[in-house]
Amino acid sequence: MRDILVEIDEGSGCCFGVVNATEKAEKTLEKEGILFSLGDIVHNSEEVSRLSNKGLKSIDNEQFEQLANTKVLIRAHGEPPSTYQKAKERGIQLVDATCPVVLKLQKRIAEAYMNCKNNTQIVIYGKIGHAEVVGLVGQTAGEAIVIENCLQLDKLDFTKNILLFSQTTQSIDGFKEIVAAIKGKIANDVNFDYKDTICRQVANRTPRIKAFALNHEVVFFLSDKKSSNGKVLYEECKKINPRTYFLNNPEEFDKTVLEGVHSVGISGATSTPKWQMEKLKQLILLS
Ligand code: SF4
Repeated sequence: MRDILVEIDEGSGCCFGVVNATEKAEKTLEKEGILFSLGDIVHNSEEVSRLSNKGLKSIDNEQFEQLANTKVLIRAHGEPPSTYQKAKERGIQLVDATCPVVLKLQKRIAEAYMNCKNNTQIVIYGKIGHAEVVGLVGQTAGEAIVIENCLQLDKLDFTKNILLFSQTTQSIDGFKEIVAAIKGKIANDVNFDYKDTICRQVANRTPRIKAFALNHEVVFFLSDKKSSNGKVLYEECKKINPRTYFLNNPEEFDKTVLEGVHSVGISGATSTPKWQMEKLKQLILLS
């Protein structure tokens, strides 16, 4: 066994929204043996494949529309009201694992839309086409305007009221930049209100991960390439510790980077399960 300190970042691993969705899926699978998931349950292909071996089948929207009289899991990102309507029409029983944080945001946006749709533009700072954002826009009958950054502010009319929300996994700095830019452009006689709806499960990881990266000579950052918070957190680690390596799965680790190294850190995205990090730790110790 290699004589080296290997520490797993305590603050990493799946967030409670993803853990909750996985538990719900596993519980249903134990009873039923098969369950459809509308989209991959988590942005992590190894975890998707582990659950697929237990009977979880990922489907897309087109396949969803072909189903009837079965059970379908709604993952942590949530879905627009149209999905619930289609399920009702087709006798589909939903196993709803929408994260409570996302659910609360959906409700706030739906209420805001009901109360002020005639005179206010509802704006969402988020990734166009991301599943959570599709679910949020669905609360406004498709009317909310999605902006990804300050370069897209020309989609807004600054002579009309603006109410800004954020997708839960966006960066706080990016949100602050957008707020400042809108304040600079909005006309004097209209309202601009903004709600910081960023999930702290993600946002709080940035300062913690910086401290963690500083404590180790080498850091392995384990995440599926599809995870957007994985990319952001990896970049943060890399800025602090240039000897940070991105791994798509534990088997990708290259032992040659450990020559002369005494301390290694393992961290990951909000979609990286702890078992994957443990597996990497064992591979390092046995290398
Ligand atoms: S990041 Fe936050 S909002 Fe998103 S699933 Fe996890 S806990 Fe829920």
